[in-house]
Amino acid sequence: MNHTQRQKIKDKITQDIEFVKREIIELKEKSKPIAPDCSIGRLTRQEMIQEQQIYMHALDGANIRLTKLTYAFTKIDKDNYGICMECEEDILFERLILVPESSHCVSCKQELGL
Ligand SMILES: [Zn+2]
Repeated sequence: MNHTQRQKIKDKITQDIEFVKREIIELKEKSKPIAPDCSIGRLTRQEMIQEQQIYMHALDGANIRLTKLTYAFTKIDKDNYGICMECEEDILFERLILVPESSHCVSCKQELGL
């Protein structure tokens, strides 16, 4: 990976972190506990609980992604960034720019069922 590519990935991680942080704030708001007597418009209480669970699940996912992105950001300047943890081959730049927190190359990811 050359310097320009590394810089591009760095920018992407910074952008993604900002995006996920905003998403977390939004999801926290949406997954707040529902008041017992609360019922809004067409949704029944049961439907609201189901919806809240979907948001909570999304919130978990967003928190995990934030942790991974933050970790990737601390690693980006190190030599082992972008190296597959399994086969130790370079992970393709095209993959890293889309998923900068990747720890495995595509084939190992598929093989390991990650
Ligand atoms: Zn691999």
